[in-house]
Amino acid sequence: MTAGTTSTSSLPVPDDAGTAERVRADFPILATLTSKGKPLVYLDSAATSQKPRAVIDAISQYYEGYNANIHRGVYEIAERATEGFEGARARLAAFFNAADPAEIIFTRNATEAINLVCHTWGLANLRAGDAILLTRLEHHSNIVPWQLLAAKTGADLRFLELDDQGRVVLDDLEEKLRGVRLVAVTHVSNTLGTIVPVERIIPAAHAAGAVVLLDGAQAAPHLAVDVQALDVDFYAASGHKMLGPTGIGTLYGKRALLEAMPPFLAGGDMIRRVTYEQTTFNELPWKFEAGTSDIAGAIGLGAAVAYLQDLGMAWVRRHEMALTSYALERLAEQPHLTVYGPKRAEERGGVIAFTLGDAHPHDLASILDGEGVCVRAGHHCTMPLHERLGLTATARASFYVYNTAADVDALIEGLEKAARIFRL
Ligand code: PMP
Repeated sequence: MTAGTTSTSSLPVPDDAGTAERVRADFPILATLTSKGKPLVYLDSAATSQKPRAVIDAISQYYEGYNANIHRGVYEIAERATEGFEGARARLAAFFNAADPAEIIFTRNATEAINLVCHTWGLANLRAGDAILLTRLEHHSNIVPWQLLAAKTGADLRFLELDDQGRVVLDDLEEKLRGVRLVAVTHVSNTLGTIVPVERIIPAAHAAGAVVLLDGAQAAPHLAVDVQALDVDFYAASGHKMLGPTGIGTLYGKRALLEAMPPFLAGGDMIRRVTYEQTTFNELPWKFEAGTSDIAGAIGLGAAVAYLQDLGMAWVRRHEMALTSYALERLAEQPHLTVYGPKRAEERGGVIAFTLGDAHPHDLASILDGEGVCVRAGHHCTMPLHERLGLTATARASFYVYNTAADVDALIEGLEKAARIFRL
């Protein structure tokens, strides 16, 4: 049990709590107190992660030491900035095991990465009568762009259904894939935590002649992702959920697909030659990076990825699975508490959505906030999924590398207090 833990529970807890304690010390915000003098118990990493000192320092070092625009400068600090920016791309390529850094496009976030594919590959390739296959788990960012594309092209949206634990049903996968040109599915659900069996979906989609995009916003921070082993065509991720700053994300795309796609945004940097009449476009990856990029953001994300690589994604997964399984066991002890999603920690990431009796999740989150415990309440940008579950909102706790069993215990104590207040 982690030093300082107040729990009286005898349940097994993560055996690597010592490492997590050392990790915590790298995150300055976790040493702060709330305005009520409570230690910060941050359980909202699925919304955005906290940032380690290494990331904060990398960003300030850039602004303090070598702030300059990239790619065209011939002077020393401009060259350093270019090296920092392109070095971050190389790190991301290694992190995702992409064959070539040119297959990593910097975007603002996962949402923009998905929209990029939608507006380029999607508009160029989809026709009336084609189908796009999603799951019922999807975040709005992986629904709305395809709805707009379907309206423009006349394509249809189809969905893979869920079982009673929120796992994707694959019995009718081959049937559902008939006529599908694009499969766009989340790798890990941000609401139910479900890890989607993409290893089974991708080859089946390819056999049916479809291209596959994975929304990796909730997977890239938590699982080892190997785009070549997955053989996935496009992979979208957000930097701010994986210890990096806001404003930077990535799209991985297979080179052949990216080469064949028209550009997304147009302007400076994405061009090779411009005349008043016409333009030839830059090579990959810059063809998709119009205008001045978020240079500091990319450098910060590079530092974040380096931090995760030092920890090792196998450790990250082990740590989160142990915490999740501890949390699931402790939550199961709470009367009136309902947890949604897969029962086994092996089938889910570190995201747990729950309700407590008929208490409104927003009221619940406010009571927890009074105890210093940060959880999210609402529909978590999965309104259709909530409707399908017969809910308008849930509370959601989510874990990351810096959480420990003590955080789970603080959540449970807060929930017990809430149950007393609501007289459950
Ligand atoms: N997909 C999933 C599964 C997510 O959880 C999120 C963020 N909540 C997104 C996409 C969108 O991420 P962003 O807002 O950073 O673009």
